[in-house]
Amino acid sequence: MQLLVRAGLAAAAMLVTACATIQPSDARHVAHHHHKAPKLSPQDIKFNQFVTDFRVTALAAGITPATYDTAMTGLHHNQKIEDLTQVQPEFVKPVWSYLDSAVSPTRVSDGQSHMAAQATVLTTLETKYGVPREILVSIWGNESDYGRGLGSFNIFEALATLAYDGPRAEFGKSELLAALKMVQQENLNPKDMPASWAGAFGQLQMLPSTFLKSAVDGDGDGKRDLWHSAPDALASAASEVSSDGWQRGHACGYEVRLPANFAYEQADGDTLKSVADWSKLGVRTADGTALPANAETAAIYIPAGMRGPAYLAFGNFKVILKYNNAVSYALAVCTLADEIAGRPGIVAPWPRDEQPLSHDERIAFQTGLTKLGFNPGKIDGTIGHDGRAALRLYQKAHGLPADGFPTEGVLAAILTEVKQKGL
Ligand code: CA
Repeated sequence: MQLLVRAGLAAAAMLVTACATIQPSDARHVAHHHHKAPKLSPQDIKFNQFVTDFRVTALAAGITPATYDTAMTGLHHNQKIEDLTQVQPEFVKPVWSYLDSAVSPTRVSDGQSHMAAQATVLTTLETKYGVPREILVSIWGNESDYGRGLGSFNIFEALATLAYDGPRAEFGKSELLAALKMVQQENLNPKDMPASWAGAFGQLQMLPSTFLKSAVDGDGDGKRDLWHSAPDALASAASEVSSDGWQRGHACGYEVRLPANFAYEQADGDTLKSVADWSKLGVRTADGTALPANAETAAIYIPAGMRGPAYLAFGNFKVILKYNNAVSYALAVCTLADEIAGRPGIVAPWPRDEQPLSHDERIAFQTGLTKLGFNPGKIDGTIGHDGRAALRLYQKAHGLPADGFPTEGVLAAILTEVKQKGL
């Protein structure tokens, strides 16, 4: 969910500008010729019925009538949000483009300023939770650009739009109930709770259910305000990351260099080995020295395949993945933290000449692998864990380095084989 929540912010921004507005002439026409209330669409009727029915559920769960009515009166199903739940991106941003903006020089220098400004609370949080200050500041930067991007939807309208109908209804209902509980517990004004289209809000883009579980008052004013208080946001991030299992005194990981003869199927993010065993296979630090001794096991990620950087990831990297389950996100948090703290970022070049596959090409890739007997999972235009695993099997079967990275080149080879075999 978290990935979708956060990806949603950018997509929402695009759609808001793309949406047509009613032309003034149309509005005049409606006003002039129809003297009764505008006719409700079937969605309006269904939405209004949901708001009425859900009141019973909410009151049974301890929400007061006053809270419910203040939060839920005057809402409409939001067509922009309904469109966003259907969006299939034409191109998925390559990991290097994602990191270019997530770990930009401005993001780094802003992070350093914010880290200095929040030094007092960060020292307290490091002691209490064991999470380094640069990790907390980096999460803050990645989630909301240090509080600049808080979302622009009414949280109740957003969650009710997800809840009244469609594939995300159960998610919408449970988060809507959590948001109503938040209003009561925190004594919030329901008309002043901006969120992303998927209901994530504030400087951490947190979901209401996560807020109820993990949010912390960082500035000691007795309130947990993730919209306006940076110390509250930082303390809540520390609380969440700590409860997800962050290990005090350990790093996320670091960039490594793989030897030319490396068996790339081991760099799948799942294969865990001791640092000593990775060393025996020829893995070195980015500047070519031996890996420092470490008792933890680690996995290796090559998010842009064999031609791109490799990253040795320890348990804390997996903790960041729990916060938002995307390798590019975890890499952004860990790398931005390193750069804020004055350590080097990723140094190996990315294969920027590789074109990301279009939506149709991703479908063709999945269909082709399926026809050739490799199972890439559901044919849905999203190449995830199963798709990369299937590609590795295909690459191994064809004597290719099994890096699991879909390129235009490997797609062409798959399509040629499908054609040759008449499949
Ligand atoms: Ca507070």
